[in-house]
Amino acid sequence: MLKTIQLTIQRASCGLNLSESVINKLIKPENIHEFLIPVKLDNGEEKHFKGIRVQHNSKLGPYKGGVRFHKSVSMQEVSALAVLMSIKCAVSGVPFGGAKGGVIVDPKRLSEKELERLSRGYVSKLALFIGPHVDIPAPDVNTNSKIIDWMVDEYIKIKKKQISKRKLNNKDLMNMKAAFTGKSIKNGGILGRTQATGRGGVIVLKQLISKLGNKLNININRPTIVVQGFGNVGHNFAKIAESEGFNITSVSDSKGGIIKNDKLNFDDIKDKSLDIPLVMECKLQKGHLAGCYCMGGVCDIKGGRIISNTDLLELEVDILAPCALGNVINRQNMKNIKARVIIEMANGPITDEAYCYLTKKGVIIIPDILANSGGVIVSYLEWLQNINNKKMTEKQVNKKLKNILENAFNVVYNQSVKRHISLKDAAFEIGINKLLKD
Ligand code: NAD
Repeated sequence: MLKTIQLTIQRASCGLNLSESVINKLIKPENIHEFLIPVKLDNGEEKHFKGIRVQHNSKLGPYKGGVRFHKSVSMQEVSALAVLMSIKCAVSGVPFGGAKGGVIVDPKRLSEKELERLSRGYVSKLALFIGPHVDIPAPDVNTNSKIIDWMVDEYIKIKKKQISKRKLNNKDLMNMKAAFTGKSIKNGGILGRTQATGRGGVIVLKQLISKLGNKLNININRPTIVVQGFGNVGHNFAKIAESEGFNITSVSDSKGGIIKNDKLNFDDIKDKSLDIPLVMECKLQKGHLAGCYCMGGVCDIKGGRIISNTDLLELEVDILAPCALGNVINRQNMKNIKARVIIEMANGPITDEAYCYLTKKGVIIIPDILANSGGVIVSYLEWLQNINNKKMTEKQVNKKLKNILENAFNVVYNQSVKRHISLKDAAFEIGINKLLKD
């Protein structure tokens, strides 16, 4: 991943005429925190887990980025993701810098109590280096609002010991809670955060269609979309897109995908999307998507067929939305991709080689740093809400998200037209320029 980011930065920076030393400076993080977290296991033994926090760039504001718990966490991956966060915040226009954190752990092997001790341990090692105006961690892979609530609680405990004995009022507490985003609603979290990344993707997609219209060579009245990944991002993206008139023809999770039955009379179904809320209900009952061909109020085994994740990416479709893993579109399958538009909802779903091939072929790719920035934009609104000790309604949140994201899209789009470059190169150029400006 770091290689892909370096290559993208190098390509984007060609137009900016950046020297190698400037590029290296751009990639280099300002601070790296690497530490061992001692955790008491339920059997009484103590185990040490490696924790990382990379604070990449704070030129535009406090560091911002998630913390992931995964056995494959590495310094290389965390560093790459921190660079991406700096550029993503710069492109979206939120006044944050970039950071990323992680712990090398398989959280599924820990009990809930052990997970809580690990989360608190991570914060106790970092408390001196984070804060509402310094560095604001958030959830990421395998971390959620419950884990963030433990982290906030630990952070406040540590800070209370450090400051005066004066009793803290609600405003002081909310201010401290601004040190983290992705909190539960009852703990200062924001309405609409769960849907924000998916909602942002739909906002960006609609902007693209409004700008390019028929030039996209797709059915602009009711475009078809295939969605890989049916977790937080994929499910919300599909649900909101369907409600906005897009036609979701196929979705998948890690166990495989479903597609509307292409053996039925196509005229009967071509204008009908999978019923995403019903598909989700079915997935929750079965534990997986296979067999959930839900349409028009019923889940009917005759309504569709199972499709592999490999075949799903290669379907004849207007818009492809990879919402799961990195590098899923690569040398092996790039020649078989038939979508006219790809929206990178996951981080880095297209390798650099596949990106160049598809762009040359005329496929429009909406880059991850723009497409999935709805999450960080609403995190910024959560931070603002805590700092000002005020609450926003979900309607207010969605309206602000729309304004910020439409504006970011327009800036990137105009740059790509002006400079005759792809949306991805334009987004990187804008982000890099902001980070380098004196
Ligand atoms: P998630 O864990 O909620 O969902 C991931 C989904 O992908 C699950 O449905 C899982 O079954 C599926 N999946 C896993 N392996 C798969 C495979 N091999 N093929 C097809 N599907 C597979 O995660 P999420 O929060 O939805 O994040 C998805 C992606 O979006 C990640 O790349 C993440 O970094 C990125 N992202 C998320 C957010 C956010 O706000 N959650 C913000 C920006 C970027």
